[in-house]
Amino acid sequence: MKIILLGPPGVGKGTQAKFLMDRLSAVQLSTGDLLRAAVREGTELGKSAKGYMDRGELVPDDVILGLIGERMQELGDKAVIFDGFPRTVSQAEGLDSLLERLNLQVDKVVELVVDDEVVVERLGARRSCPACGRVYNLMFAPPERDEICDDDGTKLILRDDDQESVIRNRLQIYHKQTEPLSEYYQKAGILVQVPGDGKVDEVREKVAVAFV
Ligand code: AMP
Repeated sequence: MKIILLGPPGVGKGTQAKFLMDRLSAVQLSTGDLLRAAVREGTELGKSAKGYMDRGELVPDDVILGLIGERMQELGDKAVIFDGFPRTVSQAEGLDSLLERLNLQVDKVVELVVDDEVVVERLGARRSCPACGRVYNLMFAPPERDEICDDDGTKLILRDDDQESVIRNRLQIYHKQTEPLSEYYQKAGILVQVPGDGKVDEVREKVAVAFV
């Protein structure tokens, strides 16, 4: 089973992906997490991606498809939840042909729908651990100690790409480049839309309905 979580930055795709992983015994594949790990490790991929990420722009499709291609070889027919990928029609087409070669297909796309202003508010309250990558939200899921990572005691940071001007840029890019995927998957008959602005548990319940 291959599932895509679609939705703007900050809508809670990562959080919902974690629930679905447990429920469906699936692996989460987040291109954002893979890229951030590459930046932390200082690899060639990380170096070439960092500028795009800091500006809130998309990393070029060929880089992303190369990254996904490698993983798909390793994962084969395991259940996978794609989080933050695909982000352009060209990435979606690339994924379709990658899967086709492996005799597989995308089974379901869950789109989390939310207003831009909710995203701006949520991401402004998001903090990340620069050492381990764990993500907190000062409004909904704060750390135990003020702005300190529960796992390793590192001071949390506001990601460069969670600054308000960058968030607004990311939202514009989302509407222009990623939102067309909603129609792409609707035409394929595999799209389920879920409101993403409730409490985490409410959204989880609604997402779960798509898998009964
Ligand atoms: P995310 O954590 O998914 O919001 O990703 C953070 C940043 O990584 C994005 O703003 C992009 O710069 C980059 N990125 C992540 N996934 C992709 C993708 N599928 N295509 C292009 N850029 C991506």
